[in-house]
Parts: sequence; C-alpha cells; structure tokens
Amino acid sequence: MKDKVCRNDMLPFVEKPGRYIGGEVNASRRRPTDRTLNMVLAFPDTYEVGMSHLGLQILYGLLREDPAVVPERAFAPWPDMERRMRREGSPLLSLESGTPLHRFDLVGFSLQYELSYTNVLAMLDLGRIPLFSKERGEEDPLVIAGGPSAFNPLPMAPFIDAFVIGEGEEALLEITALLGAMKEKKIRREERLLRLGEIEGVYVPRFHGREKRIRKRVLADLGAWTGPRDPVVPVIKTVHDRVTLEIARGCTRGCRFCQAGMVWRPVRERPAGTLLEMAGSMIESTGGDEISLLSLSSGDYSAIGDLMEALMDRSVRERVALALPSLRVETLTERLIHEIQRVRKTSFTLAPEAGTQRLRDVINKGNREEDLLKAAGTVFHAGWRSLKLYFMMGLPTETREDLEGIVDLAFKVLREGGFRRQVTVSLSTFVPKPHTPFQWSRQLSLEEIRERQDFFKKNIRHRNLNLKWHDGSMSLLEGLFSRGDERLAALVHEAFRKGCRMDGWSDVFSFAPWEKAMETLGMVPESFLGEIDRTAPLPWDFVQSGVDKAFLASEYEKALREEGTADCRTGPCSQCGACTKEIRLVLEKENPVLTAKEGPPGGEEIREDPRRYRVRFAKRGNGRFLSHLETATALVRAFKRTGFSFRFSEGFHPQPRISFTNATPVGMESLCEFADLSLRQPLQPGQRLLDAVNAALPEGLDLLSVEEISSGTPSLGVWIGGYVYLVALPPAVALAPDDVDERIREFIGKESVMVRKNRKGKTREQDLRSPVHRFSRNGTGEVLEMEMRFRKGGAMNPLDIVAHVFGLEEESARAVRIVKKDPVLPGEGKTHV
Ligand code: SF4
Repeated sequence: MKDKVCRNDMLPFVEKPGRYIGGEVNASRRRPTDRTLNMVLAFPDTYEVGMSHLGLQILYGLLREDPAVVPERAFAPWPDMERRMRREGSPLLSLESGTPLHRFDLVGFSLQYELSYTNVLAMLDLGRIPLFSKERGEEDPLVIAGGPSAFNPLPMAPFIDAFVIGEGEEALLEITALLGAMKEKKIRREERLLRLGEIEGVYVPRFHGREKRIRKRVLADLGAWTGPRDPVVPVIKTVHDRVTLEIARGCTRGCRFCQAGMVWRPVRERPAGTLLEMAGSMIESTGGDEISLLSLSSGDYSAIGDLMEALMDRSVRERVALALPSLRVETLTERLIHEIQRVRKTSFTLAPEAGTQRLRDVINKGNREEDLLKAAGTVFHAGWRSLKLYFMMGLPTETREDLEGIVDLAFKVLREGGFRRQVTVSLSTFVPKPHTPFQWSRQLSLEEIRERQDFFKKNIRHRNLNLKWHDGSMSLLEGLFSRGDERLAALVHEAFRKGCRMDGWSDVFSFAPWEKAMETLGMVPESFLGEIDRTAPLPWDFVQSGVDKAFLASEYEKALREEGTADCRTGPCSQCGACTKEIRLVLEKENPVLTAKEGPPGGEEIREDPRRYRVRFAKRGNGRFLSHLETATALVRAFKRTGFSFRFSEGFHPQPRISFTNATPVGMESLCEFADLSLRQPLQPGQRLLDAVNAALPEGLDLLSVEEISSGTPSLGVWIGGYVYLVALPPAVALAPDDVDERIREFIGKESVMVRKNRKGKTREQDLRSPVHRFSRNGTGEVLEMEMRFRKGGAMNPLDIVAHVFGLEEESARAVRIVKKDPVLPGEGKTHV
C-alpha cells in the first residue's frame, strides 16, 4: 500500500494532539539517509508514558551520540488517532522525521509490562510491518525488543525477530554497529539475524527456540555509563514530569515476589560525585524543576544523606524539588525527610505490601510494623497531609488474618496522623513473576479477587481512608502473559484483532473482548494461573537472569517456613549467582566531601535587583497544538535554561512569578501571546537574548520581544482590550465569496445573537455578537479578519462565532484555521503591533 502521510491534517481532530508533534528540546534533528543505520525506538504506550521512561531516554541518548545511527521515536497512538489514521490511510510515523515505521532499518520495542502487547501489534500493523516475524521480507525492518517483560520472551516470540535480555546499553551499541556494517554490504535478512544471535544476551526465537542458554547483559561499571545529560524535554505533561537521576541499579533486599529485585542484581551504585554532575547538567539542559532519584530502593543508596544534602544545597535557590519515589519504610530517616522538605513536599508512598509480620516474613519484606508507624508519624509530623500505602492481595500462604492485618495497619497509620490526615490504601493482586522465588506459586482467580475486594470495602471505612485497587481482570491477564509460553501469542493476536488496545489504561480497558478471544481459541485462563510443580521445566528456563534456579527454589522453601534471608549488602552473600568475576556489588561510601561548601553556600540568597519584563511570543505551526499550560511550562523552562533567575511565590508550592494573558484555545495559532515575568536580576534585552531563548524552546514557539516594564505599567488584563484574528475557512466549506459576505453582513447587522452553550455539564447563554467589533473579508478575499473586544462574562472562543456564522458542524469547524494576529489596546480602537 502506498503511504499517504498526513499526520498534521489529522491533529485538529484528536485528543491531546501535542502527543504527536515532536520538535522537543534536545530531540535529534538528524534525518535518515541511505548511509546511516536508521532506528526507531518504539514505545508501545502513549507519548506521556513513554517519555517518562528512563530506559527510552538512555538508549535514545546513546544512539544520538553515534554519527552512524539516526535514532527516532514512535509511540502508540491513542484509539481516536488510530481510528483516524486507518480512515485516512496514514501509516504510523516516527516523531522526528515523520517517516513510516516500515522504512526504518531497525525497530526496537520496549516491553515494560505485559498489558502493552496488543499495542506492539497495533504499532507494527499501523507501521505497515508484517505482524509475524516469519512473514517479513528483505525490505522490512528487523524488529527487536527488550525490557523486563523480555525475561519471558515466549508469548511475543512469533512477532519479534530478536530480543535483548538484560541491560540494553552495551548490547544495543553492538547491534547497531553490526547492522550498520551489514547494511553497507547489503547482507540478506537471514544472515543478519544469524549474526545478531551471536551477540551475548540476544535471543533470536527462529534460531534459538528453547535450546540455547541466553545470559542477560549487565553493566559492570555503572559509573562509566552516565545516561543522557541532556534528555529530551517532553512538550506535553508526562506521567512523571521530572528529571530522572538513576542513582543505582539492582536491589539485594530479596523480596520474594519482586522480579526487578531478582533480575537486575547485583546492586551497583553510581558514584555520588558523578550523580551531582549529572543532576547539574540535566537541570541546566532541561530547565526542569524536579529531580527524581531513581533506583529500586533509593533510601538504600549508601551515601543517600550526603547526596541529598549536596543536591539540595545546589538546587534550593532555584526551587528544584527532590523526589524519592521508591523509599523503603525502614530507610526513611529524619535527615532524609528534612532534605526532601527543604523545597517542596512531594507525595509520600510507603509499601508494607502485607498486613502481618508473618506474611512480611514470608515475602522477605524485612520491615516491621513499628518501622512503618514510626515513618508515618515522622512524615505527618513534618507536615505532609496525606500518605499512600501499598499492599498486595493473594500473596502465597495468605490467610484471613493477613487481610485483617491490612485493615488494622491502615487504621493505625491513620491514628499516627491524629485521624485528620488522608491515608490511601492501594491494593493490587499478587502476580507470580518468572525468575522470582514465587514463580511456582498460584495466582488468585477473579472470584477470589472480588471476595477480597468486598472484604476491604466493608472493613476499610473512614472518611479519611481512601481505598483503591488495581482491576482484577487486568491482573489476570498480566499473570497469563508473565508465565505463559508461545501459546499466548495466539491470544495477543486474537485480542488485537478484536480491537484490544491500551489495556494498561483502566479507563480504556475492556475485559469482554479478551474473554471472547479466549473463547475463540478454547483457552482456559485458570490453566496458566495455578501452582507449578517445582520439578517441571519452566518455559523461561533458557533465559539466564543471573540468579540461579536452585537459589530461587531454596528461597521458596524458606518462604514456606517463614524464614528470612539477609540483604547481602549488609549481611553475608547468599550465593544467588548474580555476582561473577567481572560483575560484583558496587557500593558508594558516605562521602562528606560532597557536602563541603565551596564559596558562598548554595542555599544563600544572592543580592537581588528585582526587575519586571513583558515578553511577546508566537505559537505557530504545530506549536498551536500545545495547551496554555504546556506552552507556559515550555516557556518557563526555556527562560531557566537561558539563565533567567525568577522570583518565586511564597507558600507550599513556590512557583516562578510569571503571569500570562488569557489561554489561546488548542489548535489556534497566535502571533501575540504575552507574559509578564518577575526576575531577581536585570536582563540584557536584545537579539542575542531572543536567539538564546528561541534555541531553548521547542519547535513552534518563538520569543518575539522582551521589554522592561515599570511598577506603574498596567497589568496584561488591563492593557489588552481584545484581539484581531485572521480566519481561513477549510476548502470543504464551499461558499462563494458573495455568500461569505452575505453571511457576515447578516451577522453584523444583528443586535445580538444568543446561543446556549453546554460546558462541563452546565448550560449558559452567550451573546456571540457582542464581542465582535469588526468582521470582513481582507484584501485578497481568501482570509477573513475579525476584531473581538473583551466583554463581561469572560473571553469567547472566536471559533464559536465562525462556526455559527457559516453553519459549520463540529468536524468542519475543527478544520478552520485561525491566527490570533494582534492585540487591541482598549479605548484606542486600534491594533497594537
Ligand atoms: S551473589 Fe551474593 S553478593 Fe552477589 S547479589 Fe547474590 S547474594 Fe548478593
């Protein structure tokens, strides 16, 4: 099928068009050629999820450094976009150059969770790549995949040409180097795959079956791999909208349900000095205002106190907050809380996982009730108003007493906050994962999940206790794919054909088509969820995660005996098998040098000479698809990257002092957006400043002018009395020029045009006529010009007026192109240019 490429034409009609526009700060601007290896990193979820994922940023950053490789990104389109793409015959395109996926040399999927599998198929299909590996020909790209779910590759094996098991950095560079060389020599597909399969950690299902042992890749020296210091800055709000600093990999706590804690062993901590440098460069290159310290258990990082203090000293002045998303209860010291509190109170989550000490011993969680209550008390005492607690239902050996323990613990935590703070109890279902001691355990059936949910609904009742849980049928599917084999591929395929997409999104997920797909295939889900005989071979046995199967089995036995295993970070080595001659535990020592103050202390205030500036900027091209908030965020980040030192508001969440004009609707271009900034020190307005800020803005946003304003300058709301708009009707609105004139005349001739408008469930009357001061065709007659003045009752969307005057239905109205051209100065009746 010939590609009909028209993504931009579709954007006015879809939800969150900013997902598809690219042009971000720090994104690659190089374009694919015949002489480069062209790779698209495909994330089988939305832009917001994919851009929050550190692995994607790491691999993209690595490839961006290689002149022989052109890296691009593609994300799964939301169902509304997919429908439109299919209707318009448009393939899935890469974000950077708008190249259809099938024209790349290499497509690399990130398999983060099992419920994204149908999205993988949708992306292949939309990208015009045959779904099954065996159906791909010489012209098709090679399709590879990595990520945690690749530790059991079998359910996706028929769709993927090669899997990378383990940490991807070194392996991906080896793969791209090999494929680049073979592209030059025009080596045939079969040979390319054979050679790929010789790289350590690469599994090629077609050649390897279940025979070859595939040992995971792991980086020996994490300090030598720093990840991108200039990560791509998303243009829209993402799930984790912050700079991520990966402080360590691996976890040796040994929780028996946790796959990440087993497969990413051993612990390797990055040197604290390197982390400080990385944090500085990342904040500078992104203009971000929050750093998240990432690892499987950030409180375990050996020099966490010193690292946080040093980070805070450097960032407190610019209000860069710190987040530690994965804190274990017992690592939450007063010093840590104090450091987090110095800038902003980010949310707190604690994960006891089980309700009784007995079950916490079974899962080897280690923490005790007194640790949890002490941590909760400290958090509340430090001023946090809410706390989230994570628990799992259906853990091996669970009894009624363990469920009652969760209720009991929730109330005890509530009591720590004097019954006045909010406590959210979040419940998920235990899913046995491959390569863990509990890989042989059974999983709860849907009925059992429902019974437990009913129990908690009845027993967790208090106005300050919220109850949340993960959808049981989603957990059931996760369980099927986690421990499934090649037979599950048929289920992914059938579910894809039945329209399943975005199955990890509870608001989109529907279990009914999955049930139908299982019925069609005669598949009984319970047959995959039961207890597995420990002497039987497992489908994923050929994948060597580093941790020995004998160790996992002995841990399972210990769990049944309610015996713990010490953390090898502090206790003896329990011979799990993850350490080798080359790969060992690497711990950072407490490092007081980090916190030694150089020159003026970081937190000390600099001498202020406050100034105010009024800036004018434009939203053009795809920039028009950014919302008001996204535009404001991009602007503030660009100013920060250029060295503007903002004054901040007081209060709980200090914000830069900046005020904007009324929001311009998404989809409308504007040449006259304004903002007033309050800075701590003077600027040097001029072309150099404009150039510097513009280089730091995403495509589609341009700073046009910067002027200093005095304290007597009227605020933007007072200064601007309205706007002049240019309007271009879409070709589908086939009106003769005389008809256009006639409709405008008729509208202008009326005193008022009252319409009822429904917004957020409320209906109100609006006079469309009153704000329109002037409306006519301009000189060439192609474009209309409309001047609107502000009236009491809030700003009106010019599109509502245009749609009414020309009788446009919603679809045609969205295709109208409107440009906000100039502001109108009040009282003068003329435009300000
Ligand atoms: S081999 Fe020993 S030291 Fe290494 S991760 Fe396993 S238990 Fe820890």
